[in-house]
Amino acid sequence: MILPTARTWVYPLSVNGRYQRIHRLTGAALQAVLFVTPWINVGGHPAFQIDIAGRRLYAFGSVFTPADSLLLVLIGLAAAFSLFLFTAVFGRLWCGYACPQTVFLEEWIRPVENFLEGDRGKRMARDRGPWNFDKSWRKLVKWAVFLAMSFGVAMTFVSWFSGARILWTGGSGVVAYSMVAFFTALMFWDFAWFREQFCNYLCPYARFQGVLCDDHSLVVAYDEGRGEPRGKAGDANPGACIDCLKCVAVCPQGIDIRDGFQLECVTCARCVDACAAVMAKRGQPSLVTYSTLSGQPRTIRARTVVYASLIGIVSVAFVAVLTSRHEADGYISRSPGSLYTVDADGWVRNTYLLRLTSHENEADQWQVDIEGLPSAAEVSAPQIVLDPAATTTVPVVVRVPPGHLIERSIPLRVRVHSHDDELWMDTSFLSEGT
Ligand code: SF4
Ligand code: SF4
Repeated sequence: MILPTARTWVYPLSVNGRYQRIHRLTGAALQAVLFVTPWINVGGHPAFQIDIAGRRLYAFGSVFTPADSLLLVLIGLAAAFSLFLFTAVFGRLWCGYACPQTVFLEEWIRPVENFLEGDRGKRMARDRGPWNFDKSWRKLVKWAVFLAMSFGVAMTFVSWFSGARILWTGGSGVVAYSMVAFFTALMFWDFAWFREQFCNYLCPYARFQGVLCDDHSLVVAYDEGRGEPRGKAGDANPGACIDCLKCVAVCPQGIDIRDGFQLECVTCARCVDACAAVMAKRGQPSLVTYSTLSGQPRTIRARTVVYASLIGIVSVAFVAVLTSRHEADGYISRSPGSLYTVDADGWVRNTYLLRLTSHENEADQWQVDIEGLPSAAEVSAPQIVLDPAATTTVPVVVRVPPGHLIERSIPLRVRVHSHDDELWMDTSFLSEGT
């Protein structure tokens, strides 16, 4: 059982402050990337598209095919090690500022909910009250808006795979629209009900935190030394905390940061802004701040050095593989069912199939030469025009005149070349020999 039996609904109070302004800015930048990128075309393809059906990845003018698996693995490793390093230094800052779940909840869902149902106190009172006309229309309108938002997010998400233009104009297949329906339902369920439970019970990244963070990683922490013993303002000899519970009321995870570090905390700093506003009236700094469990921020330590070194190694390998990459991938094989043929004029014929896959965003012409056979040998292959990101297969016929073949199998090198690149492929030429 991974979910609690009885859920305590969280009603976060609205809050403003320095970190909420940073939230809005980072949220706006990330949403711009998410929503605009699928609409930008580079070389006839979306700037970034994971075309699963076509087995292609389009990335800012480059095309990656299954033959580039090594590059994709290196990109994945670099991303994973970067996340490890970021988490070791900055804790769950990703969760608080960049995770789509947080961004959508903070920038879309809570503003709509606040507008339609009021802030924390009003929402709590209305939810406790009976289902009357006022409560019903507000809930229905809110869910309708959430559903529209869910549809927009689902369409955008699927656009990264199908391409935005074709998806939004109805040109995608049934699988794409089924995925839109599935993600719309999933998002709506999350926006309308599941919310912080995703971070607490489902998110795999949150589960890694204990391994990736240590006492020097960034956390949001309460200054117990200054704050305790807490007491209402005016109490005799209280600590600085006036127990106003503002830091608790604003928390979207429903926790009290004064209880110490908790895995549920996504370091969103809403409690920091709330306490800063309270303490400012008393001429004091916030009791809740970004800090570390050790109290000593230390970026350079064993695990960060290891992660940074791994990123460096993977980056060097990536650049090495990328710079040795050709404009196309090629593969030559003997035509199925054929070893060799002796033509009517006595020439020996071998027939091959040449398969080329373009990595380019522009069409290119390729030609075929051979090496390793007597100079009298001739090769014939059609002019190959390889479209951007396309795969083509053409027959290649090699013929050798009679009297030039001593061995039954001669190593043959096939050179396939364009204006500014060439590929070499090895095969063999077969005959009866002499
Ligand atoms: S907001 Fe600050 S003063 Fe108020 S309860 Fe929280 S820590 Fe104490
Ligand atoms: S404790 Fe503070 S930083 Fe952590 S989730 Fe709650 S409001 Fe955000």
